[in-house]
Amino acid sequence: MSEANPLERYSRQMRVPGIGKKGQERIMKSRVTLCGVGALGTVLANTLARAGVGFLRVIDRDFVEPSNLQRQVLFDETDVANNMPKAEAAAIKLRQINSSIEIEPIVADINRTNIEDFCRDTDLILDGSDNFEVRYLINDVAIKLGKPWVYGGAVGCEGMTMNIIPGKTPCLQCVFEKSPGPGEVGTCETSGVLAPIVSIIASLQATEAIKILTGNTEALNRELYVLNIWDNSSSRVKIEKLAGRKGKCPCCALKKFEWLEGEQGVQTTSLCGRNAVQVTQRRSSKLDFSELSKQLTSSGTVTVNKFLLKFAVSDSGEPYEFTVFPDGRAIIKGTDDGDRARTLYAKYIGY
Ligand SMILES: [Zn+2]
Repeated sequence: MSEANPLERYSRQMRVPGIGKKGQERIMKSRVTLCGVGALGTVLANTLARAGVGFLRVIDRDFVEPSNLQRQVLFDETDVANNMPKAEAAAIKLRQINSSIEIEPIVADINRTNIEDFCRDTDLILDGSDNFEVRYLINDVAIKLGKPWVYGGAVGCEGMTMNIIPGKTPCLQCVFEKSPGPGEVGTCETSGVLAPIVSIIASLQATEAIKILTGNTEALNRELYVLNIWDNSSSRVKIEKLAGRKGKCPCCALKKFEWLEGEQGVQTTSLCGRNAVQVTQRRSSKLDFSELSKQLTSSGTVTVNKFLLKFAVSDSGEPYEFTVFPDGRAIIKGTDDGDRARTLYAKYIGY
């Protein structure tokens, strides 16, 4: 696209008070890491590419599947037919949307060994992920590197978002001291998700991102914003007083990065010769089998006794069998790939 004035395409955005030419130039010089380019991530990437964010690193471990198309706005049926990784498919679309910005697609599982490299050279980190392990990792790395990040999550018809500005606002661990245990919260797979809640939450995140990148800190949302679009409820939870949790927050007060250092989160071990992977939680938890089996029944076949829960499911045309133990440990049969097993665990059990 040749333009006499490269700013012309942003003319409507520049007219917004608080942005102007100066703000637009700041946006165009900005570098953003986007963790996950699924439901929230595609809306975020779409909006920020159009807004002119100069460099967008999009990271995702998954491939495009038919069940994504209902809400993941950058993908289409051709991407499914071509088995496209989400990060690569997103990059192709984003370059068509705005050829004047740089897109860096990364097909990878975000974990404690690589997340710092993904975030070190960018100004802002955005949460487009679907699980709490990645969110606590983002929180650790953001506090460690002193970079702002924007949390977002949506399941069913409900979503929430908040900003984390190191040294200025509470961090994720100040607000949610402990991550939800396996099976404690529904996932998009088990509880479903309505596309509009995803668009709304991601749009709120993108708005906050634009405020951060243009230096409009006085306009930032400083509360935890929770919305349910089915029962028409919303609440703004005041969180300011939680900042640092009286000097005891492991992350932002004590600078003890439990997720980044591997003291929290999940671990996978390939079970040699069995085409199976064991997934274990580093923090022990107690699973509610009746709750979990209720969640899983719509996705596959569940059998349960006092000692274990078995769950058989077909995912992307491949059969898998989960054996889940009360402490959250699971053996997933049907793969020997640790990353695949983590993805399946996040999708069906959740963490
Ligand atoms: Zn904190």
